[in-house]
Amino acid sequence: MLQRSQRIIIIGAGVAGLTCGRVLAAYGHQVTLFEAADGIGGRVRSDHVAGFTLDRGFQVLFDSYPAIQRLLDLPALALRRFDPGALIALNGQRTILTDPLRDRDPAALLTAITTPIVPFADKLRTLQLALAMRRSSIDEILAGPDTTTSAFLRQRGFADTTIDTFFRPFYGGIFLDRSLETSAKCFRFNLKMLSSGHAVLPAGGMGQIAAQLARPLLDTGCIRLHSRVVALLYENGRVVGVRLATGEEHHADAVIIATAAPDARHLVDLPLPADGLAATTIYFSGNRPIYRARKIVLNAAADALVNSAQLLTNVAPEYAPAGKHLLSVAILGTPALDDAALIRASLADLHRMFAGDRTALAALAAYQPLAVYRIPFAQFRQPPGIHPILPSNHTDRPGLYLAAEFTEASSINAAMISGEACAKLFEIDPL
Ligand SMILES: Cc1cc2nc3c(=O)[nH]c(=O)nc-3n(C[C@H](O)[C@H](O)[C@H](O)COP(=O)(O)OP(=O)(O)OC[C@H]3O[C@@H](n4cnc5c(N)ncnc54)[C@H](O)[C@@H]3O)c2cc1C
Repeated sequence: MLQRSQRIIIIGAGVAGLTCGRVLAAYGHQVTLFEAADGIGGRVRSDHVAGFTLDRGFQVLFDSYPAIQRLLDLPALALRRFDPGALIALNGQRTILTDPLRDRDPAALLTAITTPIVPFADKLRTLQLALAMRRSSIDEILAGPDTTTSAFLRQRGFADTTIDTFFRPFYGGIFLDRSLETSAKCFRFNLKMLSSGHAVLPAGGMGQIAAQLARPLLDTGCIRLHSRVVALLYENGRVVGVRLATGEEHHADAVIIATAAPDARHLVDLPLPADGLAATTIYFSGNRPIYRARKIVLNAAADALVNSAQLLTNVAPEYAPAGKHLLSVAILGTPALDDAALIRASLADLHRMFAGDRTALAALAAYQPLAVYRIPFAQFRQPPGIHPILPSNHTDRPGLYLAAEFTEASSINAAMISGEACAKLFEIDPL
């Protein structure tokens, strides 16, 4: 524990940097956050355009994330819930897979039980696995040797058709990678989160998460936007401050890097996860809903461009002006097509996904594109065995610390845990 308040610089005002800054400020430290962009939130930002809320990339919060339970005022975020499970679009047909113990729609339940897309034995396996994850602690889930998600699912006896039609697009959307080569520990953790809670959206957009974290910091004026840090300042091997792109120098007792891994690598030579996963989201608006469920629609086609489509206004009507509907289309990677070609290609995939549903296709015909977001680095790749070798909040450079998802895992929960854990290194002795 420290004896006195310190001057601490945080580089980056994403959820990790904001969480860290907020806890440090509560301890009584003098915190300054330098943020390169024109706003806070990093990868968790929303734009508000003509009455629509457009998150910068489709993403959701899990309300069972331990960090958000501890660190956010959830009622103030006015969370809107997705129903469990998903609609699966395959070969011109749509069906539902859901959690029979928690879905509030009896029709969904019936379809899920009777659909032949997934063998009945695999429906039971999914239920058993979800129950097992719900009952296990996070430590139990993360213990033991790791493997890939696909190997884990095969070990549990799941058929290839179930893996391809459900797990690949569903967890592909969460991991931003349909290969299912992601660590099975990540899979089990996410299944636990989903089976013990819900995927949710704040009524005001995902950016409200960052806005809430930032509130106590904004009041003190310690967040400086448009302030890219280009170098760390050293004295006798110790990090003593930062230099901004403007040439301005700022000194501090400690410097905390809270950027994504590629940006951190520009500042310091440390072993950080190198492989990034990209994502693209296209938003469309329409006058009529193309489906009614509060679920995402997974594209189970082997040659899918669109991984999933979701009418966000079914879940959070606040995302669009009255009478309008907002469709978000999630694509993995950043295809080498210009916006017009990408919009055309994704509409063609949407037509395939809703083939045979004349009402949906008639509604879709009137949907207009609103925006395309391409995010070159959305998450870092998490193959089996990566988590134990991620860096810690400490570094081998005196005066330099890390608070970012890459000390934990690639998620909002992980970023907040990292920010909080880093701040705790600076707890002040109350005596
Ligand atoms: C499309 C997409 C979908 C996702 N889906 C989910 C999901 O469903 N659930 C989930 O939990 N997670 C999801 N994630 C991941 C989640 O958003 C991230 O794990 C999390 O936001 C990382 O937070 P961070 O604070 O560590 O980093 P960041 O959000 O990247 O914040 C870093 C900040 O540092 C700033 N910065 C960088 N370099 C400098 C510099 N030199 N000087 C000053 N500032 C700098 C950046 O501008 C940024 O604001 C998704 C991400 C994306 C993009």
